[in-house]
Amino acid sequence: MARIVKKFGGTSVGDIERIKNVARLVKKECDLGNEVVVVVSARSGVTNELISRAKAINPDPEDREMDMLLVAGEQETIALTAMALHAEGIDAFSMTGAMAGIRTDPYHTRARIVSMDCEEIEKHLMEGRVVIVAGFQGVNDRGQITTLGRGGSDLSAVALAKGVNADLCQIFTDVDGVYTADPRVVPNARKIPEISYEEMLELASLGTKVMQARSVEFANNHNVTFEVRSSFNDNPGTIVKQEASSMEDVVVRGVALDRNQSKITISNIPDRPGSAAKIFQGLTDSNVVVDMIVQNIGRNGVANITFTVPRDDSSRSLQSVNKVLEELGGGEVELVENIAKLSVVGVGMRSHSGVATALFAALSEAKANIQLISTSEIKISVVIDEEGAGEATRIVHTAFGLDKEED
Ligand code: ADP
Ligand code: ASP
Ligand code: MG
Repeated sequence: MARIVKKFGGTSVGDIERIKNVARLVKKECDLGNEVVVVVSARSGVTNELISRAKAINPDPEDREMDMLLVAGEQETIALTAMALHAEGIDAFSMTGAMAGIRTDPYHTRARIVSMDCEEIEKHLMEGRVVIVAGFQGVNDRGQITTLGRGGSDLSAVALAKGVNADLCQIFTDVDGVYTADPRVVPNARKIPEISYEEMLELASLGTKVMQARSVEFANNHNVTFEVRSSFNDNPGTIVKQEASSMEDVVVRGVALDRNQSKITISNIPDRPGSAAKIFQGLTDSNVVVDMIVQNIGRNGVANITFTVPRDDSSRSLQSVNKVLEELGGGEVELVENIAKLSVVGVGMRSHSGVATALFAALSEAKANIQLISTSEIKISVVIDEEGAGEATRIVHTAFGLDKEED
């Protein structure tokens, strides 16, 4: 007998038929004598719809009330999934994140899991029930409902796998694994059979939506191996696990494209110690997470700084920067939204040279002008124009030999 956590994302529970399909998949596992903990997301589109309703009522809703609203999406699917299992003759019991013992820090809309108390779940499993847990939600130490950031059901699943000491953690989605690039952008992308936590985390942080970055971070910290696979077919998926030495043989594992960033350039700011600190302190106070930062060499007592922020935070960032510039007594700010960040990722970059050269050559072939560059040990990112970014991704993907072989 094995203990298995199965997480089903928004598309996999998108309508009644699909929820019935989930129930059939779970029943199959029960028929084999296995214990199953199911984690479900809201139906696809529901969380976005709830967010737009909130913003239509109040453009700047309180985070606590947002959490109160957004958990409704998952609450619907746990109950429907339990009912679908009952219809299949399976004893099943639905639980909110709080009931399932997912305890978080106090930060609404982006809470981190601090501990798991899986006693209740254990009890139900021992009594032969399938437990269905609402993904994306937890409870803080004041009993308030919190959410774990967008895509947070992945984190719920990985944390529960750790909490109940599962033998297997499966993330069911609408693609049958992690590909060398988003198959919607690069039709020639190839499925990756195995990937290290580190590469998966880098890809996820750089805009690869298939896994939430924080869930991969948790899996890495607690050594939870998991599989990404499709709820619509039986194909083997991608195993995400600790790095094996053979993984370094591949230089570039995958290409990520992030269209959710904006670029802010501040020019003519007084070139003196403390200017940058004030600007970025202002952004931190406004809860904006800044990504790439470039400062040009100062001339004539003034300097220019360019950085990127999540596109949703554009206007908040502008307000914050303008306020600081007033205090500093100078500088102009410009916002450019139509940018995209393209990145290549691979642990093999540690031991291979020439990746930047090959990337820049491919971008030149794609006629993509590079606006910003940033590197780390296992990735290189560039900011380019959003227009043509898909084509640039396909050309870079081909240049690094990632295209699948023709059938
Ligand atoms: P779920 O609702 O199941 O959590 P998501 O929409 O969050 O699913 O993630 C699945 C989507 O991730 C796919 O439909 C795919 O378009 C996108 N995606 C982006 N990059 C990749 C990649 N490298 N490999 C696989 N899927 C990717
Ligand atoms: N429903 C939440 C979201 O859309 C969580 C998830 O789907 O993982 O972000
Ligand atoms: Mg997701």
